[in-house]
Amino acid sequence: MPYPNLLSPITLGPLTLKNRVVMGSMHTGLEEGHDPAPLAAFYAQRAAGGVGLIVTGGIAPNAHGAVYTGAAGLFSDADIAFHRTVTDAVHQNGGRIAMQILHAGRYAYVQGCVAPSPIKSPISPFAPRELTSDEVDAELNDFTAAALRARQAGYDGVEVMGSEGYFLNQFLVTHTNKRSDAWGGPYANRMRAPVQAVARIRAALGPDFLIIYRISLIDLIPNGSTWDEVVTLARAIKDAGAHVLNTGIGWHEARVPTIATSVPRAAFVHLAARLKAENILPVIATNRINTPDLAEDILARGDADMISMARPFLADADFVAKAAAGQAAQIAPCIACNQACLDHTFSGKPATCLVNPRAGRELSLRYTPAATPKRIAIVGGGAAGMMAAIVAATRGHRVDLYEAGSELGGQLNLAKQVPGKEEFHGLVHWVTAEIARLGVAVHLSTRADLDDLRRADEVIIATGIAPRRLDIEGADRALTYAEVLRGAPVGARVAVIGAGGIGFDVAEYLVTAAHSPSRDLAHWQREWGVGDPAVQAGGLILPQPDAAARKVTLMQRKTGKLGRGLGKTTGWIHRAQLQAKGVEMLAGVEYRAITQRGVLIAQGGVQRLIEADTVVICAGQTSQRDVADRAIAAGLTVHIIGGADRAAELDAQRAIAQGAELAAAL
Ligand code: NAP
Ligand code: SF4
Repeated sequence: MPYPNLLSPITLGPLTLKNRVVMGSMHTGLEEGHDPAPLAAFYAQRAAGGVGLIVTGGIAPNAHGAVYTGAAGLFSDADIAFHRTVTDAVHQNGGRIAMQILHAGRYAYVQGCVAPSPIKSPISPFAPRELTSDEVDAELNDFTAAALRARQAGYDGVEVMGSEGYFLNQFLVTHTNKRSDAWGGPYANRMRAPVQAVARIRAALGPDFLIIYRISLIDLIPNGSTWDEVVTLARAIKDAGAHVLNTGIGWHEARVPTIATSVPRAAFVHLAARLKAENILPVIATNRINTPDLAEDILARGDADMISMARPFLADADFVAKAAAGQAAQIAPCIACNQACLDHTFSGKPATCLVNPRAGRELSLRYTPAATPKRIAIVGGGAAGMMAAIVAATRGHRVDLYEAGSELGGQLNLAKQVPGKEEFHGLVHWVTAEIARLGVAVHLSTRADLDDLRRADEVIIATGIAPRRLDIEGADRALTYAEVLRGAPVGARVAVIGAGGIGFDVAEYLVTAAHSPSRDLAHWQREWGVGDPAVQAGGLILPQPDAAARKVTLMQRKTGKLGRGLGKTTGWIHRAQLQAKGVEMLAGVEYRAITQRGVLIAQGGVQRLIEADTVVICAGQTSQRDVADRAIAAGLTVHIIGGADRAAELDAQRAIAQGAELAAAL
């Protein structure tokens, strides 16, 4: 049997799960709708795909504990029917599902949010109100009421959210708990609220209801928990009646990335292993685990009892089924980009997935077998063309894919060269393998001619973009970002024109020496200041970034902070990385000329030379539409997708979704 540890059953209190894979809690944005069908379909598909246990996105126990006004909660009997639809759908598909009870405390983006002490979080504009002793008691009773309703709604258990800096976590540390009553002061008092939350649920629901407690292993904030405190809490949580400890890493306000793609895989598993060694309760390992092989290794080493993966189940609902069938190579990989999931959530949009546009849209985007198989010619083997080819071939169409270059992947092949974006290798590998498996006829180093296109029933143009060239004096002295990322030699001092996503990526590439910290845990920990909570409370040490490999100046014409348009949940990471490497960031720049000595600019009317041995242009893109223009001129009807359709705000997510949607409709 493949993955003998991962796919072996486990008994947690009243439940025997068919394997050790947990789909971790993720807000999808479908929780707030009036119609439960899309959320039920989303979870049902993951249950059918074989995952052992699903944990829902956070569900608030009361209105002021919700992450934002109107966010999902279960504080009225009227909400039970919505949840019942979800649990029925999961059970009908052979799955198990626990509801996460999430009280956000001071992280609630709500006027009137509450907390142990009236200390505003750095990531919220709302100062919380300090709860009275009786009010703390009432908040904990709301946890119990939510758990009772969860059972009525058919859930197999609850997960009590005690990590990531939310309400219960806020009681544990002096950083946020300055109380002097029974809920504050010595650690025995500070841990009373989380312990009581669990104990009251257990008392109210009896022994036959699964309780998971999510415990913070490393807070990554000043004055966070010590390791001794973590272990003390774990023992008390066991005594209070929990069956299993899920693990959480870092508070949301931590200035250390914990799930971004640049975090090394399984970067925090050593802490789960340390907790497991205490032999208190079964332990679930989390964070940056995205393949069955990695998950199996962790279990085989005895570092954890179960593995929680959240985003990988957006990327592929059939993760477990494919692993069990010996088809792990067919699992669509989560590249940890956050672009279509967390960035959407934080922008108030429903979560989906860059790699899998069907995630969260199971009812509206279907890849049904084509009634009449067609011949489809696709020109361009980048993100859009490849996804169109995969979906069209999945539906039974006969697909020819023409690529002028010698390999598939397009711009994704550039992204994978950037330190911290190594996961893109896996994405290119997966799409390429799927295209081969599905029998797409791939024509590399081939420019499709009009006869090729005339033979097809449908023509899709996905010829992508070309990096924009600048119309300033000396522009031909500069390199494009594509040339640099393909390995063109670059000097010791570099000026980068354009500070969008690619300008930041190129700057990162230039300041990093050959060795990427994302591939070396100790190096990454040093760069970000991640220590050991057994030595430093909270696990923070002084970051010690390596010296920059080059002196880089990054520029934009807009005024204001550079990197404003970067991903909501990842932009701060890119800015912090470049700041740590001493990258000079200039806004409000007018480019006058590129000379042998660098770039002549003006800022606020003052002319200045940015000395540079190499100038790199990262000033956006223009669509490559020559094939489309020729085909249209010859009277052919074509579908234009990806960067060829729209170069502005080019991004892989849009390209992939557009390719999938078109191919689903042909
Ligand atoms: P972009 O984000 O649109 O940025 C283009 C940059 O070039 C801007 O800084 C813009 O700033 C500058 N620019 C535009 N026209 C110019 C001109 N004529 N002369 C000089 N400067 C000019 O595009 P990108 O950086 O090429 O990235 C493309 C897409 O890839 C992005 O939309 C993003 O979705 C995706 N991506 C994202 C990330 C990420 O979030 N980490 C990383 C890589 C790629 P001024 O106009 O102010 O000069
Ligand atoms: Fe993973 Fe990116 Fe998909 Fe989110 S959008 S699930 S991070 S691949």
